[in-house]
Amino acid sequence: MKHKKISRRRFLNTTAALSVVTAVPGSIKSLGSGIQIQGSNYKKLAILGGDPVRKAGPIGPPWPYVDEQVVDAIVSTTRSRIWSRIQSSNGTVSTFENAFATLIGTKYCVGTGSGTQALSTCVEALGIGPGDEVITSPYTDMGTISSILTSRALPVLVDLDPDSYQLDPDEVEKRINKNTKAIMPVHIFGVAAHMERIMAIAKKYKLKVIEDACQAPLARYQGKGLGTIGDVGCFSFQASKAIACGEGGAVTGNDQALMDQCFTVQNRGANRKGSNETIGPKYRMNEFEGAILMGQFPGVRSRFEIRNDNANYLTSKLQGFAALVPQKHYPGTESGAYYHYAMTYHKEHWGAERSKFLKAIAAEGVNMGSYIKTGLHREPWVDHITGLKSYKTMYSASRLKEYKAGMHLPNCDKITDETMVSFPGSGALLAERQEMNNIINAIMKVYENRDQLKLL
Ligand SMILES: *Cc1c(COP(=O)(O)O)cnc(C)c1O
Repeated sequence: MKHKKISRRRFLNTTAALSVVTAVPGSIKSLGSGIQIQGSNYKKLAILGGDPVRKAGPIGPPWPYVDEQVVDAIVSTTRSRIWSRIQSSNGTVSTFENAFATLIGTKYCVGTGSGTQALSTCVEALGIGPGDEVITSPYTDMGTISSILTSRALPVLVDLDPDSYQLDPDEVEKRINKNTKAIMPVHIFGVAAHMERIMAIAKKYKLKVIEDACQAPLARYQGKGLGTIGDVGCFSFQASKAIACGEGGAVTGNDQALMDQCFTVQNRGANRKGSNETIGPKYRMNEFEGAILMGQFPGVRSRFEIRNDNANYLTSKLQGFAALVPQKHYPGTESGAYYHYAMTYHKEHWGAERSKFLKAIAAEGVNMGSYIKTGLHREPWVDHITGLKSYKTMYSASRLKEYKAGMHLPNCDKITDETMVSFPGSGALLAERQEMNNIINAIMKVYENRDQLKLL
């Protein structure tokens, strides 16, 4: 397994500086921050009886976001008796579609009942089906893969860049064959995948690009919004997401014919004029979902900006700290949606497994986790589909054998099993700046006392 090269001198300088500063009781100087906290016992981890950096409890406002405007929007939709989008041409769903297209910078938007449905709509609308292959990430929500399986196409999972947790473009290119129809990059944690290279590969092999921007509303890359770079982009408004209505989703794009086809697919095969012309499930967004989304719309951009300010602040504080390294951003990344604020845990600098760090920092009042427990290449669906009659009919025995053998993705395994440390950003990154200092101080306190992690 390769590790990001760390300048040894820089790391040693860093640790030396920290040790000097913490020799002063009650004060921890995180890298370049000069944060002072009084009255706590910094020499002993809270999990071993020391005083915690902050009182236990969530950081930032609870999520999903609710205010009176959101509640009023639901009440007025209830009273209006317009509950399905087909009852009105200017109801909450079509209003939201227009507003969302404008917000992220595309000509068209089609609402759906979830992000998974949005992705599935695109796969079907692009004519991808049995015998076809779509290349995507193992490090995502199962909805990404489910959207390909629903059309009985083959989701080909490839390994990741260990520092960005995004699809590795070299691995993508290696897995292209004559049946490959599309690439589905996932902008994990709301930060851009390597779109410049992915778009170049797609162009070279004439593949479609379906962006899974479910975690990435408003995030920008090389002057464009995520979800506006590929042929189509997909968003999720599930309760944990940055813009949320419980369950909801949207497809965005600039190609009118393709977007009309997306409308038709999600409308159980009926086009905008009501003619039943193709295969499609019923994936329509309902008016209550549209109402909640419109209710929270006014603050969406300012919340996005606050999250970016706080994420940039954390990243600046962690700069040069080799033990916990923020998610790598590719050149051209202008902002992120920060579904999670994610970092790579380098255990050689802590002398302890990630699980001990997570326990210790939770006791300091800062909850972090490891996101998904396993890459989706290690889940039972792989054996399930390769045993199905439909898949055995559409894909040769040798292809299915090679397919299963290709589910060996060591970088993804290392991320899930050893290095991922993150916390959800939707609410937490809206907290006061002092809470960001608490997060940094908790990290630095655990780091300074890392010899105590052995005792856990
Ligand atoms: C949430 C999510 C999905 C699925 O969206 P749902 O609305 O939950 O169906 C797909 N991909 C990613 C990356 C997600 O985060």
